[in-house]
Amino acid sequence: MTHRRHQRASVSICATKDTHMGFSTKAIHAAIEPDPTTGSIMTPIHLTSTYVQEELGKNKGYEYARVSNPTRTVLERQIAALEGGKEGLAFGSGMAAITTLFATLKSGDHVILSRNVYGGTYRLGKLVLSNFGIDCQFVDTTDLDNIRKAIKPKTAMVFVETPTNPTMEITDLSGVAKICKQKKLLSVVDNTFATPYLQNPLSLGIDLVLHSATKYLNGHSDMLGGLIVANDPKVIEQLRFLQKSLGGIMSPFEAWMCLRGIKTLSVRMDRHNRNAIQVASFLSKNTKVKKVNFPGLVSHPQHRLAKKQMKEFGGMISFDLGSLDKAKAFLKRVKLCALAESLGGVETLISHPATMTHASIPREERNRIGVTDGLVRISVGIEDVEDILDDLRNALRGI
Ligand SMILES: *Cc1c(COP(=O)(O)O)cnc(C)c1O
Repeated sequence: MTHRRHQRASVSICATKDTHMGFSTKAIHAAIEPDPTTGSIMTPIHLTSTYVQEELGKNKGYEYARVSNPTRTVLERQIAALEGGKEGLAFGSGMAAITTLFATLKSGDHVILSRNVYGGTYRLGKLVLSNFGIDCQFVDTTDLDNIRKAIKPKTAMVFVETPTNPTMEITDLSGVAKICKQKKLLSVVDNTFATPYLQNPLSLGIDLVLHSATKYLNGHSDMLGGLIVANDPKVIEQLRFLQKSLGGIMSPFEAWMCLRGIKTLSVRMDRHNRNAIQVASFLSKNTKVKKVNFPGLVSHPQHRLAKKQMKEFGGMISFDLGSLDKAKAFLKRVKLCALAESLGGVETLISHPATMTHASIPREERNRIGVTDGLVRISVGIEDVEDILDDLRNALRGI
């Protein structure tokens, strides 16, 4: 009886693996099957470094845990399903994923990146990859002409972030995909801010999507992780080879945490988005706030493009208070909003990009890309929005 019930359960869950099912259903069921040995509905955490082989050359598909781990495999399949790609790969952090991606390049290659990518990506390009002869050029990708103009004979990849961190600039993903196809360049999108719930770059023709799973995918500020999803078998093979060769893999425990977080992604994102719309509208009416960057505001220069390529606008906002002193005073006065780096957790986090996430960018360059001394970034959490608004109102009153 138990046995038959178990069989029925696995059949029904397998049936829901239909690719036509809705996002929320996929986030709970895609790639997730009851453990065949116990029926455990949750994916077990396989804490092992190696796997016993029956005889030479005969194993159950697993040989050594740097190469593959069953818990990690489930997450890799799940993110592939959510992004609509063939295969996923999981890494120890977003930066480990990005580093592995860049290791597909050769000395002499040229890469075009969005001018305000994540600070760590900028640092990797400017201070690390430059030592290996990889030439990273940062351009304003909101204007596709800047990408076209930057292409050189040695250009191999176009790497964009949209919305960008922290100024919330939007890049036209279909446009980038078209240029890259024409010029035979690998197109990459860091989809961390949007998540697969709000934006699916692969469906717009982009070759490869990556995430810092540390943020919205996990969603609870309690792990670090990175994910890549790709479609081209050649690219996948190269990334798999580099994943085991460089070794920056995600641990089974983190993979499990991430799987757990993803189940509630759509519910959390709807709330992040709803709260962010209210916070952005509140900030844009406050006279102490000079400028609000949020793609959901009609005043955002690319609101229409954001509306076209995103389902909702996400939970990230940045706003300018005019000076470092004012930003400092404001950040000292917030109580509910936690002053911290990172984003995408259930709790509201607030930060100062110029001295925190983007400190490795020279001041002149920062000002040019809009990361001014007065800029504050807020990752709007899923608390009661009135409490967030009260906290911001109080803090603004004091400056
Ligand atoms: C945080 C972040 C990263 C880096 O991810 P880690 O998990 O911190 O290594 C990359 N891109 C974006 C957009 C991020 O927000």
